Amino acid sequence: MKAVVLKQPGTVPILSYVDIPEPSIKSDELLIKVLSAGFCRHDFLVMNGTLRRGIPSDPILGHEICGEIIEKGEEVENLNIGDRIVTLLTQSCGTCEQCQSDNEHRCENGIGIGHGSQGGFAEFLAVKQNSAILIPEFVSSDIACLLTCPIGVGIQALTDITNIKPGSSVAITGASGGLGIHVAQIAKAMGCSTFGITSSEGKISSLMELGLDEVILSSDDLEFSEIIQAMTADIGVDVVIDCVGSKYFSSCINSLASNGKLILLGELGNAKAQVNLAEILFRDLTIKGSTGARRKHVLKGIDLIKNDLLRPVVHTKLPLKDLLIAFGWMKENKLFGRIVFAD
Ligand SMILES: [Zn+2]
Ligand SMILES: [Zn+2]
Repeated sequence: MKAVVLKQPGTVPILSYVDIPEPSIKSDELLIKVLSAGFCRHDFLVMNGTLRRGIPSDPILGHEICGEIIEKGEEVENLNIGDRIVTLLTQSCGTCEQCQSDNEHRCENGIGIGHGSQGGFAEFLAVKQNSAILIPEFVSSDIACLLTCPIGVGIQALTDITNIKPGSSVAITGASGGLGIHVAQIAKAMGCSTFGITSSEGKISSLMELGLDEVILSSDDLEFSEIIQAMTADIGVDVVIDCVGSKYFSSCINSLASNGKLILLGELGNAKAQVNLAEILFRDLTIKGSTGARRKHVLKGIDLIKNDLLRPVVHTKLPLKDLLIAFGWMKENKLFGRIVFAD
């Protein structure tokens, strides 16, 4: 099968478009033909050498995967050849305490798909049945690969982690990126007032068209927190979902209302941030990280699409052999939504 192997991470990573044997499956696994695979910032950071822990040599990346089942093991139930599935982020064991308590994304024996094990930047993939979710007909293959990450990831952050309510105010940094653009729509679908923050002037009108209430241009001259404070009569917002990271940390803190929550989704590297701790103390702020998504978050994403409350945004579709082109575009911050690979 065709696959893209990362031979050497770096500023210009060395990739190899190779022909390798198809994976074989165990009795509880599915063999899928990859129909589409999203290009995540996680992949970008492995490719440029920032993320190294748990990565095998010559990895095949890609954890946002939609595929069609072409073979199944004898223990597989409820999924059939010809079905389309989206993968969860982890190959989970299904038997440990975490798996048994609906936390399969925290599986004690879990291996990250497209991180510790082979991912979706290949023609075929073997995946455990408990790491696969059936895709209904109304979700096209081009967007279905985005259901777990970024969509499920955003839903977990906005539901289990923040517990926002209709009427809550939510600011989203990196709002035009592949993660932020979906987080912003999900927040809107949940009845929140949304403040999208972007560093690209050219993306403002497209964000407004997606239904965000306010779009703020962040620049080196003016901290976006000052604009948010001005727009909220110096109250601030209830929640900031940060999809960027350390660069915006103090602006995120300064944007919050008393009792506000900052949820970190963006910093995957080693960068450090500085904060005045008294700001957190005297305003009763909460700072929390959120990673991954459970099955229920993916199902919620399918439901939002069905009700036209969420429109997955694909920047463009590329053939898999153009992975290095996608890397360059992400590096230059050229993307609006996700790049999806589909041959
Ligand atoms: Zn992802
Ligand atoms: Zn487990």
